[in-house]
Amino acid sequence: MKQITSYQNKKVLVLGLAKSGVNAAKLLHRLGALVTVNDKKDFDDNKDAQALLAEGIRVITGSHPVALLDEDFALMVKNPGIPYSNPMVQRAQALNIPIITEPELAFQVSDANWIGITGSNGKTTTTTLIGLMLNEDRAKGHAYDAGNIGIPVSGVAQKAGPDDTIVAELSSFQLVGTRTLHPHIAVLTNIYEAHLDYHGDRAHYVAAKMHITQNQTPDDYFIMNWDLPEMHELAKKSAATIVPFSRLGADGARATLEDGQLCFDGHAIMAADLMQIPGEHNIENALAAIAAAKLSGVSDDAIRAVLTRFTGVRHRIQYVATVDGRKVYNDSKATNVEAATVAIEAFKQPEVLLAGGLDRKLSLAGLIPLVKAHVRKMIVFGETTQQLIDVAKAAGVPVEATQDVQTAVPLAFAASEPGDVILLSPAAASWDQYPNFETRGDLFIAAVEQYAEKEK
Ligand code: ADP
Repeated sequence: MKQITSYQNKKVLVLGLAKSGVNAAKLLHRLGALVTVNDKKDFDDNKDAQALLAEGIRVITGSHPVALLDEDFALMVKNPGIPYSNPMVQRAQALNIPIITEPELAFQVSDANWIGITGSNGKTTTTTLIGLMLNEDRAKGHAYDAGNIGIPVSGVAQKAGPDDTIVAELSSFQLVGTRTLHPHIAVLTNIYEAHLDYHGDRAHYVAAKMHITQNQTPDDYFIMNWDLPEMHELAKKSAATIVPFSRLGADGARATLEDGQLCFDGHAIMAADLMQIPGEHNIENALAAIAAAKLSGVSDDAIRAVLTRFTGVRHRIQYVATVDGRKVYNDSKATNVEAATVAIEAFKQPEVLLAGGLDRKLSLAGLIPLVKAHVRKMIVFGETTQQLIDVAKAAGVPVEATQDVQTAVPLAFAASEPGDVILLSPAAASWDQYPNFETRGDLFIAAVEQYAEKEK
């Protein structure tokens, strides 16, 4: 870690705790700053605030008192989830107090090399792939996944040295609050409509993502998705060397899909269908990761080893097992129609689809053409049971209702044939029956393992 002195005796306000706020507060305290933490949660059930107080950090909990800003703070470190419309943030802006997010702080103290990954979709998958590839045949140091993936990057930055690489997943919310952050390799997986409620409009959303390249120079690399015409325009705003990837044969791309082969700079690395993770979107994630790995000096062998072994990020079209000739996938993270659509489209084989969950009173009709094209039978459960029965009927596909995801598993095996895919992609949140999507996915996997055990 760099021993920077610029925070000594500086009054800093950390707004919003959670993992990243706790890490930022501790780091600033260690750097000699006079830290105040403000979190909305009451002190009595605020373990994070209690722990920070025990370390000698001032905490103010239970509300966001705007008058606190009159105390002459030199800096605000804002939790990325807190919108700029928050009165505390507005007041800080009116007072010209610089506002940063935790990855910016992490970068300032970091000795490591940085690879930053952003985009609307595919961030976690691409980040995970890059981390695995960089560690596969590494001579010195280690690659650490961090950031939006769930590991606060300011914690990692304190232990990573000059031989190490920080592979940081960065959300647009985090990127808005960066100033000096400067990854040697940046990746923009794609840009779709998202989070317009937070950023106000699409231009702001795109601008936030482009922060990832704002300090790059021609010695740095910016990996971009050349299949999206918008990227060609955005590339002109970056000073970095652009490294395009393309699944669809776009001119000038360096990471490409040619005759079913994943290639870099014209040479084939491996057949795309040797990957465990399915779907065209994962070919794009693999191409982005290959570009980052090749630019980092990773061998083709190492890339092949990772891509043939990697079964996906847990609960995101994760390959679980092949049982009785059926390939089973867990996509419990698919809590809406859009996410389920990507999964249902990802397979060429007939699918038995397990779906259902919390009823948000949203239309599920978008599933009808997909179910018609891909699905042999639907097994449905949870609050959205009736809507999903209607979807199946409209698609002309058989459907069976059951209690929950566990009881759906044997029914799915009974309804499928060898060569089929059994896919949990609920198109709904889990909270009607489970505490979270992770539990739902874990219970699904456990039920599949139990079924496989019995069949032995
Ligand atoms: P993120 O971290 O950006 O949310 P993930 O890698 O966790 O992305 O993938 C979440 C879901 O987003 C996947 O299950 C899939 O439905 C969809 N997805 C992933 N990669 C892509 C991509 N490259 N293009 C479009 N959709 C994708």
